[in-house]
Amino acid sequence: MIEKNESGEVWIYAETQDGELQEITQELCGKARDLADKLGVSTGAVLLGKGVESVASGLFERGIDKVYLVEDELLKFFRSSPYTHALVDLIKKYRPQIVLYGASNLGRDLAPRVASATQSGLTADCTNLDISDVTEKSGTIHKNLLLQIRPAFGGNIVATIVNYDHWPQMATVREGVFPLVEPDKNRQGKIIREQFIKESESNGMGNYLGLNAVEVIRREVAKRKINLKGARVIVAGGAGVGSKENFGLLFELANLFGGTVGASRAAVDSGFIGAEHQVGQTGSTVRPAIYIACGISGMVQHRVGMDGSAKIIAINNDSSAPIFSIAHYGIVGDLKQVIPLMIKSFRERT
Ligand SMILES: Cc1cc2nc3c(=O)[nH]c(=O)nc-3n(C[C@H](O)[C@H](O)[C@H](O)COP(=O)(O)OP(=O)(O)OC[C@H]3O[C@@H](n4cnc5c(N)ncnc54)[C@H](O)[C@@H]3O)c2cc1C
Repeated sequence: MIEKNESGEVWIYAETQDGELQEITQELCGKARDLADKLGVSTGAVLLGKGVESVASGLFERGIDKVYLVEDELLKFFRSSPYTHALVDLIKKYRPQIVLYGASNLGRDLAPRVASATQSGLTADCTNLDISDVTEKSGTIHKNLLLQIRPAFGGNIVATIVNYDHWPQMATVREGVFPLVEPDKNRQGKIIREQFIKESESNGMGNYLGLNAVEVIRREVAKRKINLKGARVIVAGGAGVGSKENFGLLFELANLFGGTVGASRAAVDSGFIGAEHQVGQTGSTVRPAIYIACGISGMVQHRVGMDGSAKIIAINNDSSAPIFSIAHYGIVGDLKQVIPLMIKSFRERT
């Protein structure tokens, strides 16, 4: 177990690919800064690999104070055991109080292994994080704990999970839930270079030296046709759209704004539109400037994917639909009448 360290830093695991910082890491930088400022401590990023030092400046520019850099031939390509080993050794040495990972394939592989090796906890797939004092049922007050917030029980509730005494407090975070921070090119930090001590006896990682990754061969994967995450305007449809043909109206409206079409899971499950359009807990997390929700009731599993949108406009024929509780503008009516009117009005203005 790692001893509790209330003045410990807030760390992120810095994910890179082909020498570039992954977007999820850039998103984590801003949140780590925010949490560290609330705690009055520094931020750190763990950077593992070979020839990766050049990305440290990108971490500093986004709010990281220290980069813990471990470079070794064995870390050239991601492999679970040596990466876990390197990260566990750093955690044991520096005792950060929080470690955050992206909920990417790599983060989902690495974080549970580190949690197991350090006997700490891990909350997967968080959609928000914060700092607060927490009072146990017994009355014991824990100062400044990490609130790890995520949908639970099939998404029917949003749970806040805390870890009293198995430290560091660790979480993986879904892509797209935290906004990217504007890099400050003048911001600098400190690189702390550490040796990769192979097969340290203390970390129980087992023998991985008999295995070596020689080459990584990338397979061309068909590019996703749509870019939901980067869209400024999303016109999303739910079960209330009623058919694949009616989705044509949503595409027409989205095209007028240079936007993209999103969907609820009910619309995807009904076969109205492809799964790559799905927004929500099991789809994409988006935060466009404008989100137009058409025939979507606003269940929590949908909301967690879009409630960070700057302006939400809801069109629904049921005035008591939950989507209206988070919408900035609401139109009660049949979307098959409302959307053509919007298209007509927009065309007349442009
Ligand atoms: C583990 C789990 C994960 C999930 N993940 C997701 C996810 O990622 N994304 C997601 O969206 N859901 C997800 N869901 C499903 C979610 O619980 C809801 O079932 C779903 O979001 C409902 O979609 P909907 O709002 O389109 O359909 P409904 O809830 O059926 O709502 C349809 C709405 O359309 C309105 N309407 C009907 N006709 C019209 C009309 N002519 N004009 C205007 N309005 C009309 C109705 O009043 C109603 O409010 C998940 C569920 C579980 C259990």
